[in-house]
Amino acid sequence: MIEQGFSLARLTTLGTGGPAHYFARPSSLDDLARALEWAAQRDVEVATIGLGSNLLAADGGVDLLVLRLEGALALAEVQGERLVAGGGAANAVCLHRARAAGLGRFEFACAIPGTAGGGVRMNAGAYGGDWAGIVLRALVVDAGGARWRSPGELGLAYRTSALRPGEVVAKVEYALEPRPPAEIRARVAALQAERKATQPTNRRTFGSVFKNPEHEFGAGRMLEACGLKGHRLGGARISPRHANFIENAGGATSADALALMSEARRRALEQFGVVLEHEVALLGELELPPAGETLR
Ligand SMILES: Cc1cc2nc3c(=O)[nH]c(=O)nc-3n(C[C@H](O)[C@H](O)[C@H](O)COP(=O)(O)OP(=O)(O)OC[C@H]3O[C@@H](n4cnc5c(N)ncnc54)[C@H](O)[C@@H]3O)c2cc1C
Repeated sequence: MIEQGFSLARLTTLGTGGPAHYFARPSSLDDLARALEWAAQRDVEVATIGLGSNLLAADGGVDLLVLRLEGALALAEVQGERLVAGGGAANAVCLHRARAAGLGRFEFACAIPGTAGGGVRMNAGAYGGDWAGIVLRALVVDAGGARWRSPGELGLAYRTSALRPGEVVAKVEYALEPRPPAEIRARVAALQAERKATQPTNRRTFGSVFKNPEHEFGAGRMLEACGLKGHRLGGARISPRHANFIENAGGATSADALALMSEARRRALEQFGVVLEHEVALLGELELPPAGETLR
């Protein structure tokens, strides 16, 4: 069923974004094929949203069919030493299933509050692990049909992939390996403690704003050196804990976040001669100005 005018602010971790013109929650591969056919017949472009944990959606809304994978497309099950996850399966669910089956290698994802499909799209990673290191193959669906793709075909690289707009990751197979659940639990606890000590964990954010540049400083240290910690524009604020995070400090809009991002880019260019590239995915009519310019 296609809904109209569904608020994306409800589906993004920052809590911003206007309505999706069209919205559907396919819960099987057949459902998904029907939704994609519906869009193709009307020339409507398609985007998928996972847990909205690395996504800024335009405040004025997006003229798209936005899909959220649910039901069978959000389940995860262990098959031998593989974990087979629906594209909409939360990483927390996958980690739980893997640990219960005594399978390790997914621990790094405990700090990444997204889905299997979002992980492929972004090649998410942390603590030395990333999707590229564990994905065996992914089932990618578009209006033309469904096809399993190898990691090479997915083009997984630092926080990016070769997936094109409109392509939906409907299933992901991970290659895991036997590991005692107690060991997995201990590793996850250690990683979560490390996270808590360095990043805002109880705020509305969308994870890293910018990719780390090729520079001795990461994006966070660079923006901290630019004096941006705690800098606020409208309802959005650069985290006082970690300068590569933007928080919703109350009533933020995506435009506020984008304005902060353009200010951060301007300062990084001015002080370090570095053009920061955004990691967060932009949905709808949202664009950063060239690095030397600001929006406000
Ligand atoms: C507190 C916090 C900590 C974070 N830490 C990390 C970290 O350590 N490492 C890291 O890499 N990221 C981190 N992130 C960012 C984010 O969690 C990851 O990028 C995650 O993989 C995004 O998944 P998602 O399902 O929420 O995708 P969304 O944010 O919903 O979408 C991101 C992009 O993926 C696309 N997409 C989503 N699902 C699909 C699908 N099924 N098929 C095709 N395209 C899809 C969207 O269209 C969009 O382009 C963090 C975020 C937060 C809020």
